[in-house]
Amino acid sequence: MPVALVTGSSRGIGAAIAERFAADGYDVAVNYHTSEDAAEETADAVRAHGQDALVVGADVADPDAAARLVDAAVDDLGGLDHVVNNAGIDQHVYTEELSPDDFDRVMDTNVNSVFNVTKAALGTLRDSDAEPTPSVTNVSSILAYTGAPIEVHYAGSKGAIISITKSHARDFAPDVRVNAVAPGHVETDMTSDRSEAEKREELAEIPMGYYGQPADIAEAVAYLRDARFVTGETLNVNGGELMR
Ligand code: NAP
Repeated sequence: MPVALVTGSSRGIGAAIAERFAADGYDVAVNYHTSEDAAEETADAVRAHGQDALVVGADVADPDAAARLVDAAVDDLGGLDHVVNNAGIDQHVYTEELSPDDFDRVMDTNVNSVFNVTKAALGTLRDSDAEPTPSVTNVSSILAYTGAPIEVHYAGSKGAIISITKSHARDFAPDVRVNAVAPGHVETDMTSDRSEAEKREELAEIPMGYYGQPADIAEAVAYLRDARFVTGETLNVNGGELMR
């Protein structure tokens, strides 16, 4: 059975990706940082599709914890064919009030985690005989392109993910494909703090007229997993918001 590891899959987009992989016949390593109960729920959803699930608590910003996460997935599920670097955090603060520690915390969680997990998984991915090829998919954001004054560290982290994606795609071809997905506004805990006025403003910028759902991003990740001639790409999934 092919195996996928989805970081930050206790909630939101990561949980939807884990469930989508299970629906497509993958065993899934479900990773969480603080939400163990929610991660167990994701694992139950994976098992409901008849697939194996492993729940691993690990802070993917920490290189040792990321390596332990990958080892646990390989040991327990018997290999690793696809990695989805989805774990991420956001914070709304203008630069004047943003502390260096908070800047680092967002970068460590969103960017260093991609390096940590991918580096730990690379040897096993190269050994995989996944069809069409093993792959890594990184989760960026529309804010990588637009910037965001109130979350400069978050937007910067998501831009870095696009550059790392291209660099790793060049580095690991033809053995392992590496792509990114850049979601627009998706309804999850991360975006649940909007006022009604902010929601109206955001929706006015989205030609499709509604927020994305986590399953919409999972659909794009599944496409990138299966697209044999696509590597180094960032797939924008935003209801037309980036269209100019
Ligand atoms: P979410 O609902 O807040 O979920 C975040 C997930 O990341 C949780 O499972 C969380 O685990 C995990 N996580 C956070 N820090 C971690 C760490 N250090 N180690 C391991 N796991 C960690 O967010 P979401 O909206 O689903 O976002 C998922 C990804 O999509 C993020 O990379 C985000 O930047 C990106 N994104 C989201 C949107 C959007 O509109 N929602 C738009 C563009 C991009 P715990 O619950 O255990 O802490």
